Amino acid sequence: MAVPVGNARRRGRFSVQCTCACPNAGDLILPVELETRIYGRGILSEISNLGADIMERLDQMAGISESGEHLTRRCYTREHRRISDLTAKWMRVAGMEVREDAVGNVIGRYDGRTPRAPAIVLGSHLDTVVRAGRYDGALGMLAAIDCVRSLNERGIRFDDAIEVAGFADEEGVRFQSAFLGSRGMAGSFDGDLLERRDENGISLAEAMTTFGLDPSRICDAARRPEDVRCYLEVHIEQGPVLEIEGLSVCAVTAIAGAVRMTVTVTGTAGHAGTVPMNARRDALAAASECVLLIEDTAKRHSQSVATVGRMSASPGTTNVIPGTTSFSVDVRASVDDVRRAAVKEMQQRMADVAARRNVKISVEKSHDVNGVTCSSWIVEEIAGAMEDLGHRPFLLPSGAGHDAAAMAGIADVGMIFVRCSGGISHCPEEEITREDAIAGSNLLLRTVERIGGYRN
Ligand SMILES: [Zn+2]
Repeated sequence: MAVPVGNARRRGRFSVQCTCACPNAGDLILPVELETRIYGRGILSEISNLGADIMERLDQMAGISESGEHLTRRCYTREHRRISDLTAKWMRVAGMEVREDAVGNVIGRYDGRTPRAPAIVLGSHLDTVVRAGRYDGALGMLAAIDCVRSLNERGIRFDDAIEVAGFADEEGVRFQSAFLGSRGMAGSFDGDLLERRDENGISLAEAMTTFGLDPSRICDAARRPEDVRCYLEVHIEQGPVLEIEGLSVCAVTAIAGAVRMTVTVTGTAGHAGTVPMNARRDALAAASECVLLIEDTAKRHSQSVATVGRMSASPGTTNVIPGTTSFSVDVRASVDDVRRAAVKEMQQRMADVAARRNVKISVEKSHDVNGVTCSSWIVEEIAGAMEDLGHRPFLLPSGAGHDAAAMAGIADVGMIFVRCSGGISHCPEEEITREDAIAGSNLLLRTVERIGGYRN
């Protein structure tokens, strides 16, 4: 998975290597003659101050929370409205025209040289998980806004427009969904979700209406593929590889697909003192065996990871043999065939456990999304931009899902990862440095400049 990249430049060719099993595996070659003809060199001095106040603005965003004790900002809440307003203000200051689309995404547009030109879309999400970190999503928003701010301050416009999208919902914590905002923009919003209710019984349709949207018009948020040149996103890595490698940023090669399942094991409840061990149908003991075989299967299918994050046993008392146990399984891999093979093997091995222990095991899939490959031409541009800025080119697949996965439905996509401390994310301990935040912003800007064809 991790990608040590050695001597990047050799004899006029730019080469980085991805060692994961994704379709980008192997050398990516950008002929240097093409690179110098189109882009030129020597840009560093112009953008070195980008994002100097980024940590202060990240703190400001983190201050908008449903809770006074920790950061929680779910979609279509009052706090969502406040973060949208703040983001829109920063977008206007950066030189963009701002609107809200039919699914509640905030969209800033910085026109190209001609009106209605296709857009290079930059973005990330404005929502957070419960008890969140302050950089997941927010960093990508500020990097994108700063990118436009820098171009505007220098009076640079491309043939393409640039748009910045602040997606309404990526984490999906309120309605047990995912990517509501980016799916709305990509035209893949699932209308059945509108009936889904949050923990207070409010449906998604009701929440959107209260937010000021018309749920019957969600399809208006969809963009035509010909209007989106590509989609780029900066995001914290949410894993430890960059820290281990001693790198602040990298290009992402692929976004892992994921399968989520609920497994229910049914045995027979009984008295903890009277039923002999060889006469038991213990659902929790059988489930425990399943958890270990799931772990073992993921280990043996390289590039796949599997997690059992929740388990409950019934009746759940000290002196009763568990009659029913259910647990969640999350399986991910950037290569779809690897993930499918791992899941199939897990199901077969669980069936063996069921037969041997005389219990019933049922598996229900609640989520099954294929992996997405980042477009190789964008990976090349990001890697080239890394070299322009003095970074060691480095490629990494993403184990976490991102809005880029939804946007891949209508556009070529690419992502930049920024190092986060200890790889810790989705909790208050999430941490990045100012230097790395600035490095990520600069890398996005340089990538956009290359894609826009800017020469200085
Ligand atoms: Zn995120």
